[in-house]
Amino acid sequence: MNQAKDYYRATAPSLGLPTLRGELATKVAVIGGGYAGLCTALGLMERGIAEVTVLEAKEIGFGASGRNGGFVFAGYSRPESRLLKELPREHARRLFRYTLDAVETVRQRIRRYRIACEAIEAGVLWADWFPGAPLARARQRLLAEGFGLDWPLISQEALAREHLRTPRYFGALLEPNGFHVHPLKLAQGYAQALRAGGVAIYERSPVLELSCRGREYLLTTPEGRVQAEHVVLALGGYSRPLLARAHRALLPIATYVMCTQPDPIIAQAIPTAAAVYDTRFAFDYYRRLPDGRLLWGGRISILDRSPETVAALLRRDLRRVFPELAELPIEYAWSGLMGYGRSQMPHIGAVAPRLWLNQGYGGHGVATTTVGGELIAAAIAEGDERWRDFEAYAPRPAYGVLGLIAAELRYLWLQFRDWLRERAMREPA
Ligand SMILES: Cc1cc2nc3c(=O)[nH]c(=O)nc-3n(C[C@H](O)[C@H](O)[C@H](O)COP(=O)(O)OP(=O)(O)OC[C@H]3O[C@@H](n4cnc5c(N)ncnc54)[C@H](O)[C@@H]3O)c2cc1C
Repeated sequence: MNQAKDYYRATAPSLGLPTLRGELATKVAVIGGGYAGLCTALGLMERGIAEVTVLEAKEIGFGASGRNGGFVFAGYSRPESRLLKELPREHARRLFRYTLDAVETVRQRIRRYRIACEAIEAGVLWADWFPGAPLARARQRLLAEGFGLDWPLISQEALAREHLRTPRYFGALLEPNGFHVHPLKLAQGYAQALRAGGVAIYERSPVLELSCRGREYLLTTPEGRVQAEHVVLALGGYSRPLLARAHRALLPIATYVMCTQPDPIIAQAIPTAAAVYDTRFAFDYYRRLPDGRLLWGGRISILDRSPETVAALLRRDLRRVFPELAELPIEYAWSGLMGYGRSQMPHIGAVAPRLWLNQGYGGHGVATTTVGGELIAAAIAEGDERWRDFEAYAPRPAYGVLGLIAAELRYLWLQFRDWLRERAMREPA
Protein backbone atom coordinates (compact mmCIF):
# COMPACT_ATOMS: atom_id res chain seq x y z
CA MET A 1 0.00 0.00 0.00
CA ASN A 2 1.15 3.51 -0.75
CA GLN A 3 1.89 4.88 2.71
CA ALA A 4 3.15 8.26 1.63
CA LYS A 5 0.02 9.75 0.16
CA ASP A 6 -3.69 9.29 -0.16
CA TYR A 7 -5.09 8.75 -3.63
CA TYR A 8 -6.14 12.36 -4.08
CA ARG A 9 -2.77 13.81 -3.11
CA ALA A 10 -1.04 11.22 -5.30
CA THR A 11 -3.06 12.40 -8.31
CA ALA A 12 -3.16 16.17 -7.68
CA PRO A 13 0.19 17.82 -6.96
CA SER A 14 0.23 20.69 -4.45
CA LEU A 15 -0.27 24.20 -5.78
CA GLY A 16 2.85 25.43 -3.97
CA LEU A 17 1.36 28.81 -3.00
CA PRO A 18 3.46 31.32 -1.03
CA THR A 19 3.71 31.60 2.74
CA LEU A 20 2.73 34.92 4.32
CA ARG A 21 5.80 36.95 5.24
CA GLY A 22 5.44 40.51 6.50
CA GLU A 23 2.39 42.67 7.12
CA LEU A 24 -0.64 43.34 5.00
CA ALA A 25 -4.05 44.95 5.25
CA THR A 26 -7.16 43.43 3.65
CA LYS A 27 -10.91 43.97 3.72
CA VAL A 28 -11.73 40.32 4.50
CA ALA A 29 -9.40 37.70 5.99
CA VAL A 30 -10.62 34.13 5.56
CA ILE A 31 -8.96 31.56 7.84
CA GLY A 32 -9.00 28.02 6.42
CA GLY A 33 -8.34 26.83 2.89
CA GLY A 34 -11.04 24.15 2.75
CA TYR A 35 -14.29 24.52 0.81
CA ALA A 36 -15.92 26.64 3.54
CA GLY A 37 -13.16 29.25 3.35
CA LEU A 38 -12.72 29.04 -0.42
CA CYS A 39 -16.46 29.28 -1.12
CA THR A 40 -16.73 32.36 1.12
CA ALA A 41 -13.89 33.97 -0.82
CA LEU A 42 -15.50 32.96 -4.14
CA GLY A 43 -18.82 34.43 -3.02
CA LEU A 44 -17.06 37.71 -2.20
CA MET A 45 -15.07 37.76 -5.43
CA GLU A 46 -18.19 37.09 -7.49
CA ARG A 47 -19.85 40.05 -5.72
CA GLY A 48 -17.01 42.37 -6.69
CA ILE A 49 -14.96 42.18 -3.47
CA ALA A 50 -11.51 40.87 -4.37
CA GLU A 51 -9.70 42.52 -1.46
CA VAL A 52 -9.76 39.17 0.31
CA THR A 53 -6.91 37.15 1.86
CA VAL A 54 -7.16 33.40 2.52
CA LEU A 55 -4.79 31.93 5.12
CA GLU A 56 -4.31 28.16 5.21
CA ALA A 57 -2.29 26.39 7.93
CA LYS A 58 -1.02 23.63 5.61
CA GLU A 59 -2.02 23.37 1.96
CA ILE A 60 -5.25 24.07 0.07
CA GLY A 61 -7.56 21.10 0.67
CA PHE A 62 -5.39 19.69 3.46
CA GLY A 63 -8.46 18.99 5.63
CA ALA A 64 -11.70 17.15 4.89
CA SER A 65 -12.07 19.07 1.61
CA GLY A 66 -9.15 17.22 0.05
CA ARG A 67 -9.90 13.77 1.49
CA ASN A 68 -13.62 13.17 1.17
CA GLY A 69 -15.84 10.79 -0.80
CA GLY A 70 -16.43 13.40 -3.50
CA PHE A 71 -20.25 13.20 -3.36
CA VAL A 72 -21.81 16.52 -4.38
CA PHE A 73 -25.27 16.07 -2.92
CA ALA A 74 -28.02 18.01 -1.17
CA GLY A 75 -28.90 18.07 2.51
CA TYR A 76 -27.15 18.50 5.84
CA SER A 77 -25.84 15.95 8.30
CA ARG A 78 -29.07 16.58 10.22
CA PRO A 79 -31.80 14.75 8.29
CA GLU A 80 -34.40 16.91 6.53
CA SER A 81 -37.14 15.02 8.42
CA ARG A 82 -35.79 16.63 11.62
CA LEU A 83 -35.79 20.09 10.05
CA LEU A 84 -39.44 19.66 9.09
CA LYS A 85 -40.34 18.59 12.63
CA GLU A 86 -38.39 21.32 14.41
CA LEU A 87 -38.95 24.40 12.30
CA PRO A 88 -41.90 26.17 10.71
CA ARG A 89 -42.46 24.51 7.34
CA GLU A 90 -41.32 27.48 5.24
CA HIS A 91 -38.15 27.84 7.30
CA ALA A 92 -37.28 24.13 6.89
CA ARG A 93 -37.98 24.38 3.16
CA ARG A 94 -35.70 27.38 2.82
CA LEU A 95 -32.85 25.62 4.61
CA PHE A 96 -33.12 22.53 2.42
CA ARG A 97 -33.56 24.62 -0.73
CA TYR A 98 -30.21 26.30 0.01
CA THR A 99 -28.50 22.90 -0.33
CA LEU A 100 -30.23 22.07 -3.62
CA ASP A 101 -29.06 25.44 -4.96
CA ALA A 102 -25.58 24.71 -3.60
CA VAL A 103 -25.29 21.55 -5.74
CA GLU A 104 -26.13 23.67 -8.77
CA THR A 105 -23.67 26.41 -7.75
CA VAL A 106 -20.84 23.85 -7.49
CA ARG A 107 -21.75 22.56 -10.97
CA GLN A 108 -21.85 26.09 -12.43
CA ARG A 109 -18.53 27.05 -10.85
CA ILE A 110 -16.84 23.93 -12.23
CA ARG A 111 -18.02 25.03 -15.68
CA ARG A 112 -17.34 28.75 -15.31
CA TYR A 113 -13.82 28.34 -13.96
CA ARG A 114 -13.08 25.25 -16.11
CA ILE A 115 -12.12 23.16 -13.08
CA ALA A 116 -10.80 19.77 -14.24
CA CYS A 117 -12.02 17.76 -11.25
CA GLU A 118 -13.29 14.61 -12.99
CA ALA A 119 -16.95 15.47 -12.41
CA ILE A 120 -19.21 12.52 -13.15
CA GLU A 121 -22.84 13.40 -13.73
CA ALA A 122 -24.69 10.20 -12.90
CA GLY A 123 -26.63 11.08 -9.75
CA VAL A 124 -26.27 9.73 -6.23
CA LEU A 125 -27.98 6.50 -5.12
CA TRP A 126 -29.23 6.02 -1.54
CA ALA A 127 -29.54 2.24 -1.25
CA ASP A 128 -31.95 0.58 1.19
CA TRP A 129 -30.01 -1.64 3.57
CA PHE A 130 -32.90 -2.98 5.64
CA PRO A 131 -35.37 -5.53 4.31
CA GLY A 132 -39.01 -4.71 4.92
CA ALA A 133 -38.21 -1.11 5.93
CA PRO A 134 -38.40 0.92 2.77
CA LEU A 135 -36.55 3.99 4.04
CA ALA A 136 -35.94 5.09 0.47
CA ARG A 137 -39.66 5.12 -0.22
CA ALA A 138 -40.39 7.00 3.01
CA ARG A 139 -37.77 9.61 2.17
CA GLN A 140 -39.03 9.94 -1.37
CA ARG A 141 -42.51 10.72 -0.02
CA LEU A 142 -41.15 13.19 2.53
CA LEU A 143 -39.09 15.01 -0.10
CA ALA A 144 -42.10 15.16 -2.43
CA GLU A 145 -44.53 16.40 0.23
CA GLY A 146 -42.15 18.61 2.19
CA PHE A 147 -40.01 20.05 -0.58
CA GLY A 148 -41.83 19.36 -3.87
CA LEU A 149 -39.03 17.10 -5.18
CA ASP A 150 -39.49 14.19 -7.52
CA TRP A 151 -36.56 11.83 -6.94
CA PRO A 152 -37.11 8.42 -8.59
CA LEU A 153 -37.21 5.14 -6.70
CA ILE A 154 -35.40 2.11 -8.08
CA SER A 155 -36.85 -1.31 -7.27
CA GLN A 156 -34.77 -4.08 -5.72
CA GLU A 157 -34.81 -6.05 -8.99
CA ALA A 158 -33.84 -3.11 -11.22
CA LEU A 159 -31.13 -2.07 -8.78
CA ALA A 160 -29.51 -5.54 -8.77
CA ARG A 161 -29.86 -5.91 -12.53
CA GLU A 162 -28.71 -2.50 -13.76
CA HIS A 163 -26.85 -0.66 -11.04
CA LEU A 164 -25.38 -2.72 -8.19
CA ARG A 165 -24.95 -6.47 -8.69
CA THR A 166 -25.41 -7.51 -5.08
CA PRO A 167 -28.34 -9.02 -3.20
CA ARG A 168 -27.47 -6.75 -0.24
CA TYR A 169 -29.86 -3.89 -1.04
CA PHE A 170 -33.65 -3.68 -1.13
CA GLY A 171 -34.08 -0.80 -3.58
CA ALA A 172 -32.75 2.75 -3.78
CA LEU A 173 -33.63 6.41 -4.12
CA LEU A 174 -31.84 8.35 -6.85
CA GLU A 175 -30.84 11.98 -6.28
CA PRO A 176 -30.73 12.81 -9.98
CA ASN A 177 -29.01 16.18 -9.67
CA GLY A 178 -26.17 14.87 -7.48
CA PHE A 179 -22.77 14.10 -8.96
CA HIS A 180 -19.25 13.23 -7.86
CA VAL A 181 -15.80 14.75 -8.22
CA HIS A 182 -12.12 14.47 -7.34
CA PRO A 183 -12.45 16.61 -4.20
CA LEU A 184 -8.87 17.88 -3.95
CA LYS A 185 -8.89 18.96 -7.60
CA LEU A 186 -12.13 20.82 -6.86
CA ALA A 187 -10.56 22.67 -3.90
CA GLN A 188 -7.45 23.49 -5.92
CA GLY A 189 -9.62 24.66 -8.83
CA TYR A 190 -11.48 27.02 -6.50
CA ALA A 191 -8.13 28.37 -5.28
CA GLN A 192 -6.87 28.92 -8.83
CA ALA A 193 -10.09 30.74 -9.77
CA LEU A 194 -9.65 32.99 -6.73
CA ARG A 195 -6.05 33.81 -7.59
CA ALA A 196 -7.04 34.61 -11.17
CA GLY A 197 -9.65 37.00 -9.74
CA GLY A 198 -7.10 38.83 -7.57
CA VAL A 199 -7.66 37.10 -4.20
CA ALA A 200 -4.47 36.47 -2.20
CA ILE A 201 -3.98 32.94 -0.82
CA TYR A 202 -1.22 31.88 1.54
CA GLU A 203 -0.37 28.28 2.39
CA ARG A 204 1.68 27.09 5.39
CA SER A 205 0.42 30.20 7.19
CA PRO A 206 -1.43 29.06 10.33
CA VAL A 207 -3.17 31.84 12.19
CA LEU A 208 -1.86 31.60 15.74
CA GLU A 209 -3.64 34.54 17.27
CA LEU A 210 -6.73 36.59 16.56
CA SER A 211 -7.31 39.90 18.35
CA CYS A 212 -9.41 43.01 17.91
CA ARG A 213 -8.18 46.62 17.95
CA GLY A 214 -10.89 49.21 17.48
CA ARG A 215 -12.64 48.40 14.19
CA GLU A 216 -9.79 46.18 12.97
CA TYR A 217 -8.98 42.54 13.55
CA LEU A 218 -5.35 41.49 13.81
CA LEU A 219 -4.20 38.02 12.77
CA THR A 220 -0.76 36.68 13.56
CA THR A 221 0.96 33.90 11.64
CA PRO A 222 4.50 32.59 12.33
CA GLU A 223 6.03 35.05 9.86
CA GLY A 224 3.35 37.63 9.22
CA ARG A 225 0.50 39.82 10.37
CA VAL A 226 -2.80 40.70 8.74
CA GLN A 227 -5.07 43.62 9.54
CA ALA A 228 -8.65 43.03 8.42
CA GLU A 229 -12.04 44.68 8.59
CA HIS A 230 -13.88 41.32 8.53
CA VAL A 231 -12.67 37.86 9.55
CA VAL A 232 -14.24 34.57 8.52
CA LEU A 233 -13.34 31.46 10.53
CA ALA A 234 -13.62 28.30 8.40
CA LEU A 235 -11.47 25.79 10.25
CA GLY A 236 -13.59 22.63 9.98
CA GLY A 237 -12.56 19.52 11.97
CA TYR A 238 -8.92 20.65 11.87
CA SER A 239 -9.76 23.67 14.01
CA ARG A 240 -7.14 25.10 16.35
CA PRO A 241 -8.33 27.03 19.39
CA LEU A 242 -8.39 30.52 17.87
CA LEU A 243 -11.78 31.62 19.09
CA ALA A 244 -12.91 29.64 22.13
CA ARG A 245 -16.62 29.84 21.33
CA ALA A 246 -16.14 28.47 17.82
CA HIS A 247 -13.58 25.83 18.75
CA ARG A 248 -15.59 24.49 21.70
CA ALA A 249 -18.66 24.05 19.53
CA LEU A 250 -17.05 21.50 17.19
CA LEU A 251 -15.99 17.88 17.65
CA PRO A 252 -13.44 16.37 15.24
CA ILE A 253 -14.95 13.08 14.05
CA ALA A 254 -13.13 10.67 11.73
CA THR A 255 -14.33 8.66 8.76
CA TYR A 256 -12.26 6.36 6.52
CA VAL A 257 -11.60 5.86 2.82
CA MET A 258 -9.64 3.38 0.71
CA CYS A 259 -8.90 2.95 -2.94
CA THR A 260 -8.29 -0.33 -4.82
CA GLN A 261 -6.09 -0.93 -7.80
CA PRO A 262 -7.89 -0.55 -11.15
CA ASP A 263 -9.67 -3.74 -12.26
CA PRO A 264 -12.37 -4.46 -14.88
CA ILE A 265 -14.32 -6.65 -12.42
CA ILE A 266 -15.28 -3.49 -10.52
CA ALA A 267 -17.49 -2.25 -13.35
CA GLN A 268 -19.03 -5.72 -13.65
CA ALA A 269 -20.09 -5.68 -10.01
CA ILE A 270 -20.97 -1.96 -10.02
CA PRO A 271 -22.28 -1.04 -13.48
CA THR A 272 -23.66 2.29 -12.26
CA ALA A 273 -21.54 5.42 -12.64
CA ALA A 274 -23.51 7.02 -9.77
CA ALA A 275 -22.04 7.55 -6.32
CA VAL A 276 -23.63 5.21 -3.76
CA TYR A 277 -24.34 5.27 -0.02
CA ASP A 278 -26.80 3.33 2.12
CA THR A 279 -29.51 3.88 4.70
CA ARG A 280 -27.60 2.89 7.88
CA PHE A 281 -26.31 5.42 10.39
CA ALA A 282 -22.66 4.48 9.66
CA PHE A 283 -23.16 3.90 5.96
CA ASP A 284 -20.75 2.67 3.29
CA TYR A 285 -20.10 5.25 0.57
CA TYR A 286 -18.42 4.40 -2.70
CA ARG A 287 -17.98 5.19 -6.36
CA ARG A 288 -16.08 3.98 -9.39
CA LEU A 289 -13.23 6.29 -10.36
CA PRO A 290 -12.54 7.29 -13.97
CA ASP A 291 -9.22 5.37 -13.92
CA GLY A 292 -10.93 2.05 -13.14
CA ARG A 293 -10.46 1.96 -9.35
CA LEU A 294 -13.05 1.61 -6.63
CA LEU A 295 -13.09 4.31 -3.97
CA TRP A 296 -14.77 2.91 -0.85
CA GLY A 297 -15.45 4.77 2.39
CA GLY A 298 -17.30 4.25 5.61
CA ARG A 299 -17.44 4.20 9.40
CA ILE A 300 -17.62 7.08 11.81
CA SER A 301 -15.53 7.25 14.95
CA ILE A 302 -13.51 9.56 17.15
CA LEU A 303 -10.39 7.54 16.24
CA ASP A 304 -8.15 8.81 13.45
CA ARG A 305 -6.62 5.39 12.48
CA SER A 306 -3.54 4.22 10.56
CA PRO A 307 -3.83 3.34 6.83
CA GLU A 308 -3.39 -0.41 7.60
CA THR A 309 -6.23 -0.42 10.12
CA VAL A 310 -8.45 1.63 7.81
CA ALA A 311 -7.77 -0.79 4.94
CA ALA A 312 -8.51 -3.86 7.10
CA LEU A 313 -11.79 -2.41 8.44
CA LEU A 314 -13.02 -1.23 5.06
CA ARG A 315 -12.07 -4.49 3.32
CA ARG A 316 -14.36 -6.22 5.80
CA ASP A 317 -17.19 -3.81 4.91
CA LEU A 318 -16.60 -4.27 1.18
CA ARG A 319 -16.76 -8.07 1.59
CA ARG A 320 -20.28 -7.79 3.07
CA VAL A 321 -21.57 -6.08 -0.06
CA PHE A 322 -19.36 -7.26 -2.94
CA PRO A 323 -17.47 -10.40 -1.81
CA GLU A 324 -15.99 -10.78 -5.30
CA LEU A 325 -14.18 -7.42 -4.92
CA ALA A 326 -12.87 -7.94 -1.40
CA GLU A 327 -9.56 -9.47 -2.43
CA LEU A 328 -8.61 -6.65 -4.79
CA PRO A 329 -5.29 -5.08 -3.80
CA ILE A 330 -5.80 -1.88 -1.81
CA GLU A 331 -3.42 0.81 -2.93
CA TYR A 332 -4.37 3.74 -0.69
CA ALA A 333 -6.16 4.11 2.64
CA TRP A 334 -6.61 7.22 4.77
CA SER A 335 -8.85 8.92 7.27
CA GLY A 336 -10.14 12.46 7.56
CA LEU A 337 -11.72 14.62 10.23
CA MET A 338 -15.14 16.19 9.94
CA GLY A 339 -16.24 19.06 12.18
CA TYR A 340 -19.53 18.24 13.91
CA GLY A 341 -21.56 20.64 16.03
CA ARG A 342 -24.07 19.27 18.54
CA SER A 343 -27.00 19.92 16.23
CA GLN A 344 -25.26 18.33 13.19
CA MET A 345 -26.04 21.61 11.43
CA PRO A 346 -23.44 24.09 10.18
CA HIS A 347 -22.62 27.22 12.17
CA ILE A 348 -23.15 30.05 9.72
CA GLY A 349 -23.25 33.69 10.73
CA ALA A 350 -21.82 36.51 12.83
CA VAL A 351 -20.45 35.81 16.33
CA ALA A 352 -19.24 39.40 16.91
CA PRO A 353 -19.30 42.54 14.74
CA ARG A 354 -17.60 41.63 11.43
CA LEU A 355 -16.44 38.27 12.81
CA TRP A 356 -18.07 35.39 10.93
CA LEU A 357 -18.24 31.65 11.43
CA ASN A 358 -18.58 29.13 8.59
CA GLN A 359 -18.01 25.66 10.05
CA GLY A 360 -19.55 22.38 11.20
CA TYR A 361 -20.59 20.72 7.94
CA GLY A 362 -19.99 17.19 9.25
CA GLY A 363 -20.23 14.59 6.48
CA HIS A 364 -22.24 16.83 4.10
CA GLY A 365 -19.89 19.58 3.06
CA VAL A 366 -18.85 19.29 -0.57
CA ALA A 367 -21.92 21.14 -1.81
CA THR A 368 -23.26 22.54 1.43
CA THR A 369 -20.20 24.65 2.34
CA THR A 370 -21.36 26.78 -0.59
CA VAL A 371 -24.43 27.72 1.45
CA GLY A 372 -22.38 29.32 4.22
CA GLY A 373 -19.98 30.82 1.71
CA GLU A 374 -22.80 32.48 -0.20
CA LEU A 375 -24.71 33.72 2.86
CA ILE A 376 -21.65 35.20 4.55
CA ALA A 377 -20.38 36.76 1.32
CA ALA A 378 -23.83 38.29 0.73
CA ALA A 379 -23.88 39.58 4.32
CA ILE A 380 -20.47 41.25 3.99
CA ALA A 381 -21.01 42.59 0.47
CA GLU A 382 -24.70 43.52 0.60
CA GLY A 383 -25.78 43.50 4.25
CA ASP A 384 -27.93 40.45 3.49
CA GLU A 385 -29.39 38.88 6.66
CA ARG A 386 -30.39 35.43 5.38
CA TRP A 387 -27.64 33.87 7.49
CA ARG A 388 -30.08 34.37 10.39
CA ASP A 389 -31.97 31.35 9.04
CA PHE A 390 -29.23 29.34 10.81
CA GLU A 391 -29.64 31.03 14.21
CA ALA A 392 -31.91 28.14 15.22
CA TYR A 393 -28.75 25.97 15.19
CA ALA A 394 -26.25 28.45 16.68
CA PRO A 395 -23.00 27.03 18.15
CA ARG A 396 -23.29 25.38 21.56
CA PRO A 397 -20.45 23.92 23.67
CA ALA A 398 -19.61 20.35 22.61
CA TYR A 399 -17.58 19.63 25.82
CA GLY A 400 -14.22 18.52 24.34
CA VAL A 401 -13.05 15.08 25.46
CA LEU A 402 -16.30 14.37 27.30
CA GLY A 403 -18.21 15.30 24.17
CA LEU A 404 -16.02 12.97 22.12
CA ILE A 405 -16.64 10.07 24.48
CA ALA A 406 -20.38 10.78 24.42
CA ALA A 407 -20.26 10.92 20.60
CA GLU A 408 -18.42 7.57 20.36
CA LEU A 409 -20.95 5.94 22.71
CA ARG A 410 -23.79 7.35 20.65
CA TYR A 411 -22.24 6.09 17.40
CA LEU A 412 -21.77 2.61 18.90
CA TRP A 413 -25.37 2.61 20.09
CA LEU A 414 -26.72 3.72 16.70
CA GLN A 415 -24.67 1.04 14.92
CA PHE A 416 -25.87 -1.57 17.38
CA ARG A 417 -29.45 -0.40 16.77
CA ASP A 418 -28.95 -0.82 13.01
CA TRP A 419 -27.53 -4.31 13.61
CA LEU A 420 -30.54 -5.27 15.75
CA ARG A 421 -32.91 -3.89 13.14
CA GLU A 422 -31.23 -5.81 10.37
CA ARG A 423 -31.25 -9.03 12.36
CA ALA A 424 -34.92 -8.67 13.36
CA MET A 425 -35.95 -8.03 9.78
CA ARG A 426 -34.05 -11.00 8.41
CA GLU A 427 -35.61 -13.43 10.88
CA PRO A 428 -38.61 -15.28 9.48
CA ALA A 429 -41.93 -14.15 11.00
C1 LIG B 1 -13.25 11.01 4.67
C2 LIG B 1 -14.35 12.00 4.46
C3 LIG B 1 -15.35 11.74 3.52
C4 LIG B 1 -16.36 12.70 3.29
N1 LIG B 1 -17.22 12.52 2.23
C5 LIG B 1 -18.06 13.52 1.88
C6 LIG B 1 -18.81 13.43 0.69
O1 LIG B 1 -18.67 12.50 -0.10
N2 LIG B 1 -19.70 14.44 0.40
C7 LIG B 1 -19.85 15.50 1.25
O2 LIG B 1 -20.69 16.38 0.96
N3 LIG B 1 -19.09 15.65 2.35
C8 LIG B 1 -18.18 14.70 2.67
N4 LIG B 1 -17.38 14.85 3.76
C9 LIG B 1 -17.48 16.11 4.52
C10 LIG B 1 -16.79 17.27 3.79
O3 LIG B 1 -15.55 16.87 3.28
C11 LIG B 1 -16.60 18.42 4.81
O4 LIG B 1 -17.84 18.75 5.38
C12 LIG B 1 -16.04 19.68 4.16
O5 LIG B 1 -14.90 19.39 3.38
C13 LIG B 1 -15.70 20.69 5.26
O6 LIG B 1 -14.99 21.77 4.69
P1 LIG B 1 -14.33 22.85 5.65
O7 LIG B 1 -13.74 23.87 4.79
O8 LIG B 1 -15.33 23.24 6.69
O9 LIG B 1 -13.21 22.04 6.47
P2 LIG B 1 -11.77 21.50 6.00
O10 LIG B 1 -11.79 21.03 4.62
O11 LIG B 1 -11.33 20.55 7.06
O12 LIG B 1 -10.85 22.80 5.99
C14 LIG B 1 -10.44 23.47 7.15
C15 LIG B 1 -9.06 24.04 6.86
O13 LIG B 1 -8.71 24.97 7.88
C16 LIG B 1 -7.32 24.89 8.08
N5 LIG B 1 -7.02 25.47 9.39
C17 LIG B 1 -7.34 25.01 10.62
N6 LIG B 1 -6.88 25.84 11.57
C18 LIG B 1 -6.26 26.87 10.92
C19 LIG B 1 -5.57 28.04 11.35
N7 LIG B 1 -5.45 28.36 12.65
N8 LIG B 1 -5.02 28.87 10.42
C20 LIG B 1 -5.15 28.60 9.10
N9 LIG B 1 -5.79 27.49 8.64
C21 LIG B 1 -6.33 26.64 9.54
C22 LIG B 1 -7.04 23.40 8.00
O14 LIG B 1 -5.68 23.14 7.73
C23 LIG B 1 -7.97 22.97 6.86
O15 LIG B 1 -7.34 22.96 5.60
C24 LIG B 1 -16.40 13.90 4.06
C25 LIG B 1 -15.42 14.14 5.03
C26 LIG B 1 -14.40 13.21 5.23
C27 LIG B 1 -13.34 13.51 6.27
